[in-house]
Amino acid sequence: MLEIEYSAIINEFKTVVDTTPSSKCLKKRKGLINMRIMSLKALITAALLSVLSLPIHASNLPSISEYQLDNGMKVIVKQDHRAPVVVHQVWYKVGSTYETVGKTGLSHMLEHMMFKGTKTLEPGVFSKQVSQLGGQENAFTSANYTAYYQVVGKQHLEKVMQLESDRMRNLVIDDTEFNKERKVVTEERRWRLEDQPTSKLNEQFNATAFMNSPARNPVIGWMTDIEHYKASDLRDWYRQWYAPNNATLVVVGDVEPQAVLALAKTYYGRYKPETISSVKPQLEIEQEGLRRIELKGATKVPSVQLGYHVPSLVTAKTAVEKQEVYALAVLESILDGSSSSRLPVSLVRKQQIAAGASAGYNTTDRLSTLFELSGTPVTGHKVSEVENALLAEIEILKTELVSQPELERIWAMDEADHVYYLDSIQAQASIIGSLVSVGLEADTLDYWIENIRKVTPQQIQAVAKKYLTRDNLTIATLFPDGKDHSGLKAYTGRL
Ligand SMILES: [Zn+2]
Repeated sequence: MLEIEYSAIINEFKTVVDTTPSSKCLKKRKGLINMRIMSLKALITAALLSVLSLPIHASNLPSISEYQLDNGMKVIVKQDHRAPVVVHQVWYKVGSTYETVGKTGLSHMLEHMMFKGTKTLEPGVFSKQVSQLGGQENAFTSANYTAYYQVVGKQHLEKVMQLESDRMRNLVIDDTEFNKERKVVTEERRWRLEDQPTSKLNEQFNATAFMNSPARNPVIGWMTDIEHYKASDLRDWYRQWYAPNNATLVVVGDVEPQAVLALAKTYYGRYKPETISSVKPQLEIEQEGLRRIELKGATKVPSVQLGYHVPSLVTAKTAVEKQEVYALAVLESILDGSSSSRLPVSLVRKQQIAAGASAGYNTTDRLSTLFELSGTPVTGHKVSEVENALLAEIEILKTELVSQPELERIWAMDEADHVYYLDSIQAQASIIGSLVSVGLEADTLDYWIENIRKVTPQQIQAVAKKYLTRDNLTIATLFPDGKDHSGLKAYTGRL
């Protein structure tokens, strides 16, 4: 169970929030590892694709109720009475961007250990009990947070809350179990990274684009770090971060807020707050020129990934900067929001040089983030042609204003995504949890469409000129290594 993230083609978002118990924690997009490419819109699309789908009467949905327990734990409840179902999620503000050199991947490793048992529960019993309730459960780790969730009939809310609250503070990290699980994680890394050239490219791309920010850390961790953790590292990580005052409980479904609050007080309210040491800023240094890397990998198909440093809604401090984020989000949709967006139309259908081309931007990263582009050439065309064509599309955005009809189409698309989001209680909970965990308001999404509609063609041109520049660009190219890789062993373990 690792969490992971992305970079690449929007249509492949379907696995973003995995619901199968056998593949916990992975967020994956086109096999690449690092979720920094997701826009809020994409996150919504991703989350809703994997979960419950209910009849929608969006206009009747009540607003969000927010509370804070005496020990500092946040409790957020959103009522949705369309089915007798409830989603129970606990989000911890810890992920790979909290990790230090030599200890990368600790958050993900801890997520694996969370299914090992507590002082009163044998290893594996947690999942078995949720399954016996007819529920689904899962977990995922990202750069920004680690989250655990269950989807059950509303009558079982108290039971899953009791189970989840138990492992918040009573986890047993046993040396033998830890050593066993470390082997699982190293194997997981081999399968996800070492044997997946596009994921490996993304990992190295990220570590090149970010030089001193922990945004460079792979969520699963570098192999040598995974191999050298001690069980005590995990115990310390657990004690420090898995505390009520570092957690948010999100419950969405057929519930009454006051009843959820009462249960939360009983189960989570019994713990004392922990002293949480503040994380050093480690602000990324300014990029002052193009960065480029090449990787030869076990593939027959070359590809290219490009990224520009840009702000996120979290790092944007002023109203003007926040509006730049919305403008960049619209710009992303112009390039790659649907099959009629510019990249698929131009590179795939008109020029016929790319098998695929995409853009991505995670507007809600906790730290500074990247606006990314990627592409794969069709047979007979070079990866350099795709790179040049992607850059040419960026230049067009700087020289020609986006037309009003194109902008209207983007807004309509975003509104459709918003309605989709309301269709799923799991998606609603996931969006709320992810926003609050990076320090944004729980209702940020409710104002998303309103803010997107304020973006003007001039603002789009301005952010393209300001941020999408050569000196602010990192390019990573994957080339085939010319070897035979047909004998690669498949991974059969738990994720
Ligand atoms: Zn994992």
